[in-house]
Amino acid sequence: ARFAPIYGDSAVVSMHSGMTPAQRLKSWLAAHSGVARIVLGTRMAIFASLPKLKLIIVDEEHDPSYKSGEGARYSARDLAVYRGRLDGAKVMLGSATPSLESWHHSRPAAEGGRYLRLVMPSRIGSITALPTAQGDTTRLVNDATAANAGLPVVRRVDMNHQPKHCVFSPPLLAAIVERIARGEQSMVFLNRRGYAPVLHCADCDWKSECPHCSAYRVFHKIDRTLRCHHCGYAERVPRACPACGNPDIAPMGRGTERLEEHLAELLLEVRRPNSVSDQWPEGEPVRIVRIDADSTKLKGELQAQLARVHSGEVDVLVGTQMIAKGHDFRRITLVAAINPDNALFSSDFRAPERLFSLLMQAAGRAGRDADISGQSEMWVQTFHPQHPLFDALKRHDYPAFAAEQLKEREQAGMPPFSFQALVRAEARTQEVAQGFLSAASAAATQMAQADQLLAHLTLYPAVPMSIQRVANVERAQMLIESPSRAALQRFLAAWQAVLHATRKQPVGRGLLRWAIDVDPLAI
Ligand SMILES: [Zn+2]
Ligand SMILES: [Zn+2]
Repeated sequence: ARFAPIYGDSAVVSMHSGMTPAQRLKSWLAAHSGVARIVLGTRMAIFASLPKLKLIIVDEEHDPSYKSGEGARYSARDLAVYRGRLDGAKVMLGSATPSLESWHHSRPAAEGGRYLRLVMPSRIGSITALPTAQGDTTRLVNDATAANAGLPVVRRVDMNHQPKHCVFSPPLLAAIVERIARGEQSMVFLNRRGYAPVLHCADCDWKSECPHCSAYRVFHKIDRTLRCHHCGYAERVPRACPACGNPDIAPMGRGTERLEEHLAELLLEVRRPNSVSDQWPEGEPVRIVRIDADSTKLKGELQAQLARVHSGEVDVLVGTQMIAKGHDFRRITLVAAINPDNALFSSDFRAPERLFSLLMQAAGRAGRDADISGQSEMWVQTFHPQHPLFDALKRHDYPAFAAEQLKEREQAGMPPFSFQALVRAEARTQEVAQGFLSAASAAATQMAQADQLLAHLTLYPAVPMSIQRVANVERAQMLIESPSRAALQRFLAAWQAVLHATRKQPVGRGLLRWAIDVDPLAI
């Protein structure tokens, strides 16, 4: 809608999964015939046929959703770079928090960088502020480093010095109340939906495990269900412990639903400013809205809720990271991460990168309005306030964060200093899944020119995936790593035939499926 008036109606078509096949075909043909000169779309748009393709822009290039994890596994961003080379088109990757891979590629050419780094010194006000493409290398935009003007102040709350078990630290709560009194909005987010992640019986230690997955079912108070977020299995909450009959089963931990309920209790006495009326002789109570995957299941619900926020009807917005991304809230002057510590010590080496990006993005939600941006704040509640990640966040210093992370990755020999592929196998039993991978791994040494192919490769043993069982399917994976992309690709090309052959042997019996994932985003 923003592009059509500039370039003409027929010049712009879109391509995304929300369209019907007929609509998509129409867009595809318009682009293929050259009538449409601009294709706007999600990751699938990278396959659009454009006879005179000259420029590909990948906005928010760090976003994991560019990677397709089902069916044909591909990264639309990496395909864009590849296609740019094939078609002789410029490729522009844009992000305030680039992926460490792209950032590393954009180091100075003298140090081996392949991309040209362009720095945008201030926030992007509108799409027309994007620089025009010139030069002949891929470009990268970073808009958060050069000037902190207009960016929110980052406040770390040391949770070690707050009342035990408090969810909202007193200073954060006071800051939210202050916002309400000024007629401004706050946004608090927590990376977990539902009411509580586990229901627990203190008498016999029963927990709400999913019978089909190695995971707990989440307690959703709103419809009194226990729901598995992995396989979807849902049941009414039992009246008493299914194991021992104890009627006193309790939620453990908290999700956004419980956070919303708790905040409403804390703000019970607070009144909206200038809201005394016949209906509310003492003033109106605070309005809280929750936005997460549960509250936006029905079509149009998200838009309706966002509209309420935009119109100023809402004082506090509670939600998952979903609200921290992309939406422009002009009246929000306080953004708070309630409990972001998990990602600091995750076994997934990309977790800190994702957390930093999320917090930077979330901070960017605060004070988009120039008039009030001066007083906007980003709050982080943490038990590790001295962590370098929060230090860099406080300074809005992506380059410092990236440098530190890249140093760690280089020392550990992890991407982008090495290249990885995962082979995943699924079967009814863990033995079969792992057995298949182990057999295929052993058979690799028997391949023609095995010595040469395996020279720069590390094949790790097969292990259960972190969520080992989903919907009664056992899952195992095996990591392959190499300092050389070419060596990895040569090996995978040759090894595929071995995997196919292994499946046909007795050891492959009972195997449901296997797949290779190159450059996996989660390990
Ligand atoms: Zn019990
Ligand atoms: Zn399940």
